[in-house]
Amino acid sequence: MSRVVVLGGAESGVGAAVLAKVKGFDVFLSDKGEIKEKYVQELRKWEIPFEQGQHTEELILNADEVVKSPGIPGTVPMVQKIREKGIRVVSEIEFASRYDNAKKICITGSNGKTTTTSLIYHLLQQAGLNVGLGGNIGQSYAYQVATRHFDYYVLEISSFQLDDIYDFRPDIAIITNITPDHLDRYDHKMENYVAAKFKITKNLTPDDCFIFDSDDAITVGHLSKIVLRCKMLPFSQEKEVEQGAFLKDDKIVLRYDKEETDIFLQDLALGGKHNVYNSMAAALAAKAAGIHNDVIRKSLASFQPIEHRLEPVLSIKDVLYINDSKATNVDSAWYALECQKRPVVWIVGGTDKGNDYSVLNDLVREKVKAIVCLGVDNAKIHAAFGDMVSKMADALSAEEAVKKAAAFAESGDVVLLSPCCASFDLFKNYEDRGEQFKAAVRNL
Ligand code: ADP
Repeated sequence: MSRVVVLGGAESGVGAAVLAKVKGFDVFLSDKGEIKEKYVQELRKWEIPFEQGQHTEELILNADEVVKSPGIPGTVPMVQKIREKGIRVVSEIEFASRYDNAKKICITGSNGKTTTTSLIYHLLQQAGLNVGLGGNIGQSYAYQVATRHFDYYVLEISSFQLDDIYDFRPDIAIITNITPDHLDRYDHKMENYVAAKFKITKNLTPDDCFIFDSDDAITVGHLSKIVLRCKMLPFSQEKEVEQGAFLKDDKIVLRYDKEETDIFLQDLALGGKHNVYNSMAAALAAKAAGIHNDVIRKSLASFQPIEHRLEPVLSIKDVLYINDSKATNVDSAWYALECQKRPVVWIVGGTDKGNDYSVLNDLVREKVKAIVCLGVDNAKIHAAFGDMVSKMADALSAEEAVKKAAAFAESGDVVLLSPCCASFDLFKNYEDRGEQFKAAVRNL
């Protein structure tokens, strides 16, 4: 019996281990850290042997194949030893796709992945298709392949998950856009990060589609250096495209297989320029999956906003509070500010990932009347915007930030939490930051 060793005992690793067990492999899972109770129970339920707090070489280096969780960098010593022994290392999605015949729509990119993935899932569900949602969202792909049967999967895929793929092939691949993020995992080289994202296109055939943002200079620049043999479906808000999606007056035009369809911008459930991009990408994926135009229109209109992404929380004394805690980089905050129609009291800050704030200058000058910095070290934000915004304050908790923002805000304003930064200095993660923000708003 061949032996599969899984490194990493969280959602992705446990899913891969369960699938390997179901497929009759001799499975072992190893995690150098602590495995969460929920996953320990899952492993016990499936009678999968595992270890935590260590990697035992004798139990790992006898593998025929290793499935590496995306959270583990390829540079850790154990992974290097495995490779030196000539053992093949694959990602969870590579492993799972061997046992899955469903059509796969796979979404990667720097921003808008979750929104676009959720939109497409909603569209396919509304079309009555038997569809699973997975990858970075919810249950892992491997676990679903082990335990469910779907005709379609919509998978959100991070660049880390693409690191160790060989034959993985989406039927429809999407790169939402590419802006600098997580560069630390790519030797601080943008070209490595771009190449990692483009791995999603690696095995595309002429029967498959690639959907991409043709306004994105980095994406287009990389495309000019490679050859893809699949159907190309660009989307753009700046120019008309021969096949794909573009803006005309107040409508999105979908041009697909010599047919044209319009969708009015005012009918989109999600507001903001960035969501026009996300809606275009989702609509093109739906077209490529053969979904009718009226279903596409209705589904883009009926979609509900996702938590922590420009999520309206409450209106108090005619001040609208918006939770955009998931905006963890400058580009996402740019779009959040761009779509605000009312004066903004902006809550920003956290763990800075080497941000260059200058791209926000025009928007801040135009829209932001006050800033509350929510972070341990706010010096960079003060330096960036101190001479543009007269009212600035610092806060060390969501509650303090909301109180200070409420004091700055007047009737007709928006208080926007769109932090540009990771959350780990003061919060467990971005969800925790968003929850605490919402709780503080409700307590006002
Ligand atoms: P991801 O899953 O890639 O992190 P999300 O869909 O969760 O992206 O959105 C995260 C944040 O990024 C949102 O709150 C919004 O401010 C911003 N955003 C969403 N879509 C886009 C886009 N297409 N381009 C730029 N920023 C976006």
